[in-house]
Amino acid sequence: MQKIQNYINGELVDPIGGNYLDNYEPATGQIYSQIPQSDHQDLEMAVAAAKAAKDEWADMPAEQRANLLSKLADAIENAGDEIAKAEAIDNGKPISFAKAVDSYRSAANIRFFANATTQFSSECHSMGAVGVNYTLRDPVGIVGCISPWNLPLYLFTWKIAPALATGNCVIAKPSEITPMTAYLFAKLCIEVGIPKGVINILHGTGASIGGPIVEHPAIKAISFTGGSATGKAIAAVAAPLLKKTSLELGGKNPTLVFADCDFEATVKEVARSAFSNQGQICLCGSRIYIERSIYDKFKKALVERVSKLRIGDPLDESTQHGALVSKPHMEKVLSYIELAKQEGGKVLCGGSRVELPGRLAEGYFVEPTIIEGLDIQCRTNQEEIFGPVCTLQPFDTDEEALALANGTEYGLATSIWSNNIKRCHTFSRNMDFGIVWVNCWSLRDLRTPFGGVKSSGVGREGGYEAMRFFTEPKNICIKY
Ligand code: NAD
Repeated sequence: MQKIQNYINGELVDPIGGNYLDNYEPATGQIYSQIPQSDHQDLEMAVAAAKAAKDEWADMPAEQRANLLSKLADAIENAGDEIAKAEAIDNGKPISFAKAVDSYRSAANIRFFANATTQFSSECHSMGAVGVNYTLRDPVGIVGCISPWNLPLYLFTWKIAPALATGNCVIAKPSEITPMTAYLFAKLCIEVGIPKGVINILHGTGASIGGPIVEHPAIKAISFTGGSATGKAIAAVAAPLLKKTSLELGGKNPTLVFADCDFEATVKEVARSAFSNQGQICLCGSRIYIERSIYDKFKKALVERVSKLRIGDPLDESTQHGALVSKPHMEKVLSYIELAKQEGGKVLCGGSRVELPGRLAEGYFVEPTIIEGLDIQCRTNQEEIFGPVCTLQPFDTDEEALALANGTEYGLATSIWSNNIKRCHTFSRNMDFGIVWVNCWSLRDLRTPFGGVKSSGVGREGGYEAMRFFTEPKNICIKY
């Protein structure tokens, strides 16, 4: 059985303690590889490698770092099909989605920050005849990047790229549930000649290696994407150590559909926003509020569209809805569907595990599920399910729609569907979210701030926000 390796000091290595975890293929429910259960010994090796590499990497002219990162982006692009296949096997997502989203964005992330580093500059503040200030933006040093399983290489590179581009050395940990593409990525780093020690990738669970990364005194900043509970635990450890943290956490995102929307386009995009990647995207719109005058018509059209999604083998190009990432996650999602029924919800479509034939018989497939009849206070509408489950609710006034949208502890992303420009602007201003999409969903420009408010996180990724996070400003004041 294939054994994944850590990537330390430019080499693929086995974990020092010799411990491994099983890695499951979600579509079959079978173990298909093993991953290192790394611990503090592996971390010490990685930190030593990063310390040795740090100064040369930080001192390298931006253009040279950009060239190396561009080569890495090319390598990811060339391996796009292989990465997409690995992602489909490891995560359960449809291969067509993995090609269009995961492989594509992983290369785009690296390329974007390779370019950005040649454009990044710092400030100068003149004091007239008295003097002048200029601000250096030095790399933080050694930084930790910890990522989740839903968009594995995509979110892994989204953190690593700005950290490297600004001259930091990285100790990175992908999710133990989807480790495979981080392993492929390590091989590509070797292939293109990323200097040894600049990126180190340690596999394993949060307890065995994630926690030690957060605690290590040589690691000066933590960029984390994952659940809100984990983010709070990381913040509690990092705060007294006075580490910089960027925390991209959970969401319970509302979708607001007004009667004056472009009906057909809205149905199509609202379905995509709820069920892309089996609903396992932090940005997915899982609470759908519809103006009462079109509620029945919209509900019918949405249910009709979603019921037609082709559930099947993630490796089949025609599959639109794959497997959930793990057995515990599938059980969690199914338990929320049961909870929704107990809370008085009516299942309009889906609601069950899907049993597929042949090699997929033990796979973690759950039907796309739409539920109505639940109010904002119930747990189904308050807690992040992170699966193919959404709820529908009618509203009568703009005030009611706004209160519903803002009515959870989360504040990551929202979308509004309306042709009334005044309403779109007013809602955009008054909604408590880090990201507002108007007549679109997940339309991304990598220069824009990305992240949430309330329990959805602290800090922003994307563009210069990320470059600033991974640098320390130092002001130099000179008197004439
Ligand atoms: P998770 O919090 O369980 O794990 C995320 C990562 O943290 C994994 O690599 C895990 O091993 C590690 N980890 C766990 N405990 C740790 C600890 N104590 N110290 C250090 N590392 C630790 O999240 P998940 O289940 O992998 O991902 C799903 C969650 O991620 C959802 O809540 C989703 O909304 C969120 N998410 C957020 C964004 C965003 O940009 N805001 C994007 C994608 C996913």
